Amino acid sequence: MTALIDSLRSVVGAAHVLTEPADVAPFVTDWRGRYSGAALAIVRPGNTPQVAEVVRLCTQAGVAIVPQGGNTGLCGGGTPRGGEVLVSLTRLNRVRGIDVANNTICVDAGCTLAAVQEAAATAGRLFPLSLAAEGTATIGGNLATNAGGVQVLRYGNARELCLGLEVVLPDGRVWNGLRGLRKDNTGYDMKHLFIGAEGTLGLITAAVLKLFSRPRQTATAWASVATTQAAVALLTRLRERIGGRVTAFELVSRLSLDLVLRHIPHSRDPLPDRSPWQVLIELSDTMESELDVALQDVLLEAVQAGDANDAALAQSEAQAQAFWRLRENISEAQKIEGISIKHDISLPVSRIPEFIDRCDAALAAAFPGVRIVCFGHLGDGNLHYNQSKPAGQDNDAFIAQSDAVNRVVHDLVAELGGSISAEHGLGQLKRDEILRYKSEVEMDMMRAVKKALDPAGLMNPGKVL
Ligand SMILES: Cc1cc2nc3c(=O)[nH]c(=O)nc-3n(C[C@H](O)[C@H](O)[C@H](O)COP(=O)(O)OP(=O)(O)OC[C@H]3O[C@@H](n4cnc5c(N)ncnc54)[C@H](O)[C@@H]3O)c2cc1C
Repeated sequence: MTALIDSLRSVVGAAHVLTEPADVAPFVTDWRGRYSGAALAIVRPGNTPQVAEVVRLCTQAGVAIVPQGGNTGLCGGGTPRGGEVLVSLTRLNRVRGIDVANNTICVDAGCTLAAVQEAAATAGRLFPLSLAAEGTATIGGNLATNAGGVQVLRYGNARELCLGLEVVLPDGRVWNGLRGLRKDNTGYDMKHLFIGAEGTLGLITAAVLKLFSRPRQTATAWASVATTQAAVALLTRLRERIGGRVTAFELVSRLSLDLVLRHIPHSRDPLPDRSPWQVLIELSDTMESELDVALQDVLLEAVQAGDANDAALAQSEAQAQAFWRLRENISEAQKIEGISIKHDISLPVSRIPEFIDRCDAALAAAFPGVRIVCFGHLGDGNLHYNQSKPAGQDNDAFIAQSDAVNRVVHDLVAELGGSISAEHGLGQLKRDEILRYKSEVEMDMMRAVKKALDPAGLMNPGKVL
C-alpha cells in the first residue's frame, strides 16, 4: 500500500494525502459521533482530472474509495469502515459559471451549499436548496444524498434542482453530462442514477443547477395548533388561499421547542399558550404584493375555524430569523440533550396525523418514558421522528433498543404507504433495514445497476446496498 500512497501523493501533492492519525480523525467520524472508522489515507484532489487519476490508481490497486463532502451526512454514508481511501472533494470549490438568461449555475461538487446560494445571490438569482448544515455541506453531498431541506414544498429536492452532472466513474473515466437543459429526451437520464446513490456509483465532481428569480417579499409566521390534524388543515387552507407562494411549512412539537428553549442561548417561545404543536410558515413572492396581509387574513380565519390556537406574524427580518433559528436548532438541541434514535421518514401528508397518533401510542406502550422529538417538513410529508432516552436511562441500554424502536416506527411507515428514508439516505444506518421494505424486484434492479457501473464493488462499499 505504500506504493499506492506514494502514487496518490504524486497526483495531488504530498500535502493533500493525510495519513497521520490526528489529521485523519476529523474525516473518519460522522457528525453525530455515531460512526467511526479508519482509512488508509485521506486524499484531497484539487480538480476533476486529479479525482479521475486517484480513482484509477485505487481501482488498479483494488482499494475501495469513500467519497466525502462536508461530512454532515446523518447515515454514516461518508464514514469509512476500514482500509479504504477517503476522497475528500472539498478542494473542488470553484463556481464554474452562471448563465443568468438560462437560470443556471455550474459549480464544482465541493462548493458548500452556502457558497452556491451566495454566488446565485450575487448574480441576482436564488438557489433555493436550504438546510441547517449549509455552511459545511457540499453540493456533491447534497446531490449524492438527494437532500431536501426546508423549501422542497415550493422548489423540490436536490434531484429536482439538478440539470446536469460531471461524474468520475469507478473505472476512472470522466462522464461530462454538464448540460443546462430543461428538456433532453435522449435516452436514459443517467444523472438520476448518481443523485441519491450516496457515492456508491461514482464521484460527482461538478453540477449544473437550476436558479430562480429572487423573491422580493417574504412573510413569516409562527402559529400554535392543538393537533397535527389541525396543522394539516391549516396547510390545506394556506395552499387553497395562497397557492404556490407557500414556501415552507414546518411542524415543531412542544418537546422539540422546549429542548431548543433549554439548550440554545437567546431562544424565546414566540407564543405564550404552550400548545402541543407549532408550525413555522413562510410565504414568498417575486412580485410586490401584500403577503403579510394575506398571511394574517388566513391565520385569522384559521383561528376562528379552530385550526390554529394563536399566531405571531414576524414584524421584521430579525424576528423572522429568530423563528427560523428555533426550527433549525432542534437537531443541535437534541444532540446537547443526549443520545437519540432518529427516523427520517416520509408519508403522504394526509396520513401524518394518523401516523403520529398511532406511533406515539405504540412507542409509549413498548418503551415507557421514551421522549418523542417530532418535527419536520410537514408541507412535503417529511417528519424527523426521533426518540430521546427516558430521563435517567443509561445510554447503552437505550441504544440497545434501536432495532425494536425502528421496527415499530418503520413497520407503521410502510403500512401507511411511506418511506423509511425521506432525505438523509440509507448509508450504513439503514442498509439492512431497507431489505425489509423494498421488494426483491426493486433490490434486484439496484444491484444490477451497481454491478454494471462498479463491477468490482469498490465505490463506497457497505453503504446503501
Ligand atoms: C444540523 C444538520 C441539519 C441537516 N438538515 C438536513 C435537511 O434539512 N435536509 C437534508 O436533506 N439533510 C440534512 N442534513 C444532512 C446533511 O447535511 C445532508 O445529507 C447533506 O446533503 C450532506 O452533504 P455533505 O457534503 O456533508 O455530504 P457527506 O456527509 O460528506 O456525504 C454524504 C454522502 O454522500 C456521499 N458523497 C459526498 N460527496 C460526494 C460526491 N461529490 N460524489 C459522490 N458521493 C458523495 C458520501 O459518500 C456519503 O455517502 C442535516 C445535517 C445536519 C448536521
